[in-house]
Amino acid sequence: MPYELTEEQRLIRASVREIAEKHFKPKAQEVDRTRRPPVENLKILAQNGFSGVFIPQQYGGPGLGLLDIVLIVEEVARCCANTAILIGCTDGATPRAILHLGTEEQKREYLPRIVRGELPCAWGMSEPNAGSDVGSLQCKAVPDGDSYVINGSKMWCSCAQVSDLFLVLVRFDGISGMKGVGALLVPRGAPGFSIGKHIELLGFRGTGMAELVFDDCRVPRKNLILPAGQMRSLFEVFNSDRIATNPPICIGVAQAAFEAAVDYAKQRVQFGKPIAEQQGIQWKLADMAIDLEAGRALLYRAAARVDAGMPSAVDASITKTFVNEMSRRVTDQAMQIFGTIGLSEELPMQRMVRDVRGMSIGYGTTEIHRNVIAREILEGRYSEI
Ligand SMILES: Cc1cc2nc3c(=O)[nH]c(=O)nc-3n(C[C@H](O)[C@H](O)[C@H](O)COP(=O)(O)OP(=O)(O)OC[C@H]3O[C@@H](n4cnc5c(N)ncnc54)[C@H](O)[C@@H]3O)c2cc1C
Repeated sequence: MPYELTEEQRLIRASVREIAEKHFKPKAQEVDRTRRPPVENLKILAQNGFSGVFIPQQYGGPGLGLLDIVLIVEEVARCCANTAILIGCTDGATPRAILHLGTEEQKREYLPRIVRGELPCAWGMSEPNAGSDVGSLQCKAVPDGDSYVINGSKMWCSCAQVSDLFLVLVRFDGISGMKGVGALLVPRGAPGFSIGKHIELLGFRGTGMAELVFDDCRVPRKNLILPAGQMRSLFEVFNSDRIATNPPICIGVAQAAFEAAVDYAKQRVQFGKPIAEQQGIQWKLADMAIDLEAGRALLYRAAARVDAGMPSAVDASITKTFVNEMSRRVTDQAMQIFGTIGLSEELPMQRMVRDVRGMSIGYGTTEIHRNVIAREILEGRYSEI
């Protein structure tokens, strides 16, 4: 699938780069240090038309494609990875699920507010005893009159502290395994719903990650978005979202680390000359560029294929796996070029290394994505392009 960025896509990339350089980059270290989610950055993106960008015009959005959102997320992540994660609030799994799986009433109620940046959203799937094995989740929803009553908890919910609407995966009463799993939309403030304790990870410290707690939480029946037994359609939404957010964040951060390493190698003098003149350093820079170009080519091609109406699970899994591991190699090499000062909390390099590490685990681990790739090969659905 050939792709070539259009003039409009080059303009999108340039204007997001300008916004991110001016408003997000100067605060990125402070966001990491203070653990404060930079929600004001989401507002800036919304004011400039970069919120809910995939949402069609009939619901107030510009209806942009997946390659457009990839360019936006990459540019934001290059300056502030925490802000790039927050983009999931307006362009990630929950808004996409509302568009593709929601009722007309849900679309009209929520999508225009998402475009205006007024309704940040998050999703809760993981639980203490259910990670990769989604079919084992226990958070339960029981119908009661006009409502569902939810009991249980969710772990690792990114952006929980700043979101107002949650896509919550639940087990419907009495049905075991994946067949019993569906989803409800739960607004902040629903009776019996609370945001639990703040969770701090190695990276992405400014994303407001937290537990979700449901204690006889009651939501109206009209908040049903996915009945039991239809998880395949939600996984299809997740496949697009996997391309839209996780890999461009990795590429954006790796690109920033690469650029910093090039600059540092040119100005750091040892043995009487810049370390950039040492062939050992030059080969590292060359390897980083090879990795970045390969990852970017895979990602843009995967996004262009979705935009051309040819989504593919194997594309999403190959792209995510390669780009996750590529970004770990590139940031690690960049840190090596910096030497000890790269480990210092004064500089962003250590933050970049920390931020990309979790991306091989979130949105499906690289092992689970290798399982998907192998299944597609063995069941005859994979052929080279
Ligand atoms: C940055 C970040 C953001 C996240 N945001 C969210 C969020 O917003 N909402 C949400 O619900 N969750 C979120 N998560 C959680 C994430 O989705 C889970 O961590 C992920 O699904 C893996 O589950 P687990 O950590 O419990 O690992 P486990 O499933 O317990 O796996 C542990 C290890 O075993 C391996 N393994 C498991 N099963 C297999 C198998 N069949 N074959 C081979 N290897 C296997 C895994 O690959 C892994 O190495 C986030 C995680 C991260 C890191």
